[in-house]
Amino acid sequence: MSTPASRHHKRPRGEGQWALGYREPLNKNEENKKNDDGLNVRQRIIDVYAKGGFDSIDPADLRGRMRWYGLYTQRKPGIDGGKTAILDPEELDDRYFMLRVRIDGGQLDLRQLRTIADISNEYARGTADVTDRQNVQLHWVEIESVPDIWQRLEAVGLSTTEACGDTPRVILGCPLAGIDTEEVLDATEQIRLVHDRFIGDPAYSNLPRKFKTAISGCPAHCTVHEINDVAFVGVELPTGEKGYDLWVGGGLSTNPMFAKRIGVFVRPDQVEDVFGGVIGIFRDYGYRRLRHRARLKFLVNDWGVEKFREVLETEYLKEALPDGPAPAEPRSSRRDHVGVFPQQDGNFYVGFAPRVGRLDGDRLHLIADIAERHGSDRVRTTVEQKMVILDVAPDRVDSLVAELEANDLQVNPSTFRRQTMACTGIEYCKLAIVETKATASDLIDELERRLPDFKEPLTINVNGCPNSCARIQVADIGLKGQLVVDDNGEQVEGFQIHLGGSLGVNAGFGRKVRGLKTTAAALPDYVERVVTHYESQKKEGESFAD
Ligand code: SF4
Repeated sequence: MSTPASRHHKRPRGEGQWALGYREPLNKNEENKKNDDGLNVRQRIIDVYAKGGFDSIDPADLRGRMRWYGLYTQRKPGIDGGKTAILDPEELDDRYFMLRVRIDGGQLDLRQLRTIADISNEYARGTADVTDRQNVQLHWVEIESVPDIWQRLEAVGLSTTEACGDTPRVILGCPLAGIDTEEVLDATEQIRLVHDRFIGDPAYSNLPRKFKTAISGCPAHCTVHEINDVAFVGVELPTGEKGYDLWVGGGLSTNPMFAKRIGVFVRPDQVEDVFGGVIGIFRDYGYRRLRHRARLKFLVNDWGVEKFREVLETEYLKEALPDGPAPAEPRSSRRDHVGVFPQQDGNFYVGFAPRVGRLDGDRLHLIADIAERHGSDRVRTTVEQKMVILDVAPDRVDSLVAELEANDLQVNPSTFRRQTMACTGIEYCKLAIVETKATASDLIDELERRLPDFKEPLTINVNGCPNSCARIQVADIGLKGQLVVDDNGEQVEGFQIHLGGSLGVNAGFGRKVRGLKTTAAALPDYVERVVTHYESQKKEGESFAD
């Protein structure tokens, strides 16, 4: 039996950090990754599963390694014509997949956009959602089609490699990199270099958990650096030299933490190596015992900024980085790029708002056609589930805007259309508790009808469960899906409400309002009450989060 003294001297329990010698897998996920690297599933998909069909898939690949190529089994549709969701976890896996196409920096040319559109129509029942990490997600994909899909994506320089899984995920970048008139610097080259060196490299394909990156010189801070695992944020020194401020350890989910500034200045030519150092620290020192404590934020929180910097410089970079300045304040409280704005070259970019990111193959084609008719070959996805068409000549802008608007791709949307986001939800996501996309879309319609004159910035983020894929805690009104009891005592879909979250200068997580829940049906009434109250109480210059 251990005495208090022996307990006191016991070696602290390891968290599965490889660098401290804990190489033996401490849970099932770690065991699977050790048994076979996630990247190796690609060849099996091509050689075995696509030929043998769904039932030939090894369960460890189906529930694990497929993610290394952006493939997740989607949720089986509910019974009673979809009305009653299946809740038994054993019964949830459908025989179809969600396939996530990574779009690093949100950069697409028209050939790439049309390829995604064709794949959507031919292999994914026309589905295509723009996500809040600049990716496009397709649904209803059968394993038999995956090699064809890859071939077509790869022919135009796109891929699904490490779009999911415990890997370096898509690299966020400002959609206006290289064209914004006020940008600090253009990060396009750094995104490309980091992508080409690290994505698909087996040295970094077994991380403790997912690893989210942003590299940007955007003056609006559109890549939400505060909530990424690693972020390079454009800064300018008093000498005029431009580079990046390094942030690490941000993330939301059930234990939200903002990223912390390390306080160093990173020259553009150092970004690759510094990225390698940060991801190396995560791989080697990251906690692997418990999945819910495995994100980099927990290590950064335990170590503190000073130790993180010291380990980065001494063990990984073998050189000290100079101190550097913090980024300038974002240019406005709206971080999206919706609307018509001038580019550096005299042309214009036009950002527009599909409904909560929901598009389809035909509409992607339509967007490509509209862009082409107006002389553009470049479109972008944003981290707000929006899109931007670049390079529109001044005399073509009005016609382009008119065509987009005529197709419900709004360039001058209401606050509610512009700033409401929704995650995938129960329609396809196996972790979801409630429906989200249709709920959010109906909410937009209702609020536009009830509050036609409301113009203030106000973010409403609708999430199907506590995982916060659509960023519950940093929205003005963050909605976390859960079952609630309605007036008749029935369990129905609803939301826990978080109010007043924000990023930027006054960054703070929304407060969970104890006991404040609403049924999905009563959501428009609830939001209307909150917004009306805010309008009647707000003082000059006060934002919702204040
Ligand atoms: Fe699924 Fe939950 Fe993420 Fe929504 S927040 S996509 S329901 S895991």
